[in-house]
Amino acid sequence: MLNLQRPKFAYMGGKLRPWEEATLHVGCEAVNRGLNVFEGLKGYWQPDWSFAVVMLRRHYERLQRSARLLHIPCCISFEEYTSAIEQLASSLLESERDMWFRTTLFVTEGHWGEGTIADLVVTAFHQEKVIPNAINLGVSTWQRSLDVALSARIKTSTNYQVARLARIEGRKNGCQDMILLNQWGRVAEATGSCILMVRDGTISTPPATEGALESITLEILEMLAESHGIPFVRRPIDRTELLVADEIALCGTLAEVVLVKSIEGLPLSGEAPLLKALQTRYFEAVRGTKPHPFVEMSTVRTTRGAPGPIADGAYTCRI
Ligand code: PMP
Repeated sequence: MLNLQRPKFAYMGGKLRPWEEATLHVGCEAVNRGLNVFEGLKGYWQPDWSFAVVMLRRHYERLQRSARLLHIPCCISFEEYTSAIEQLASSLLESERDMWFRTTLFVTEGHWGEGTIADLVVTAFHQEKVIPNAINLGVSTWQRSLDVALSARIKTSTNYQVARLARIEGRKNGCQDMILLNQWGRVAEATGSCILMVRDGTISTPPATEGALESITLEILEMLAESHGIPFVRRPIDRTELLVADEIALCGTLAEVVLVKSIEGLPLSGEAPLLKALQTRYFEAVRGTKPHPFVEMSTVRTTRGAPGPIADGAYTCRI
């Protein structure tokens, strides 16, 4: 039985509210049509006991792009957005755990695109300080939706209906995550993260035009790889290439960098030297032990706490 966190507070309607009071009306478009756009952000304790969120402005900008694509007015300034996250972090943070934030624009007023009004809701969940364990990955029979139907570029909850079905399918086969193929039968992305593959010393990942979200973590990894002289290309990937890849990993804000130990039941050769190195470098950058100029960390004003140790842990792509 799943035991999901129920934090004490959520930010809604411009202020913090008790969790039980952060509700939507059954008549609004957010409920009736699942109309919302959102961002998941992660904050990490830093060595100086400050708490910092990864690429805050990039997430704000992508939220605006998603809202624009669904004709949802986004009247929230970057300052208000930051303040909402700060308020919630201040009331919920614990020094022993990091935090994942979900910032959502829910459409609370309007009908079929007329009179649309959205409210910024922020929820936050504690995250254990772990390096994720390697996972078994499958390839789903479900497909990524077309750009002309529901573009993968739009980060909206409705885009995750298919991902949910893929996860249900994967669970039956002992897979912790699944790859969705696109309309051409090529690799798009995983259910809540992007995919990286190594063949002959080069890291490849499909471009967003193959049906992947424009991932901020991928941008970071691309820069980290470049700094370390590791070849990194964005190109279409066939399904069968995954089956003969030397190394595979998933990446995303919540997933972080997760190594893959088997693909469709076929074991991978084990060590994953390039992707393991990139995983290590990623955690050094976001945890501030070895910052990288591209990886923008926004310090959140909050009460102080001492960072705890980092352990190995289960795949945490859920809250
Ligand atoms: N694809 C999907 C479907 C996702 O939900 C996510 C997580 N936001 C990603 C890719 C990775 O995006 P990012 O690195 O910006 O978190």
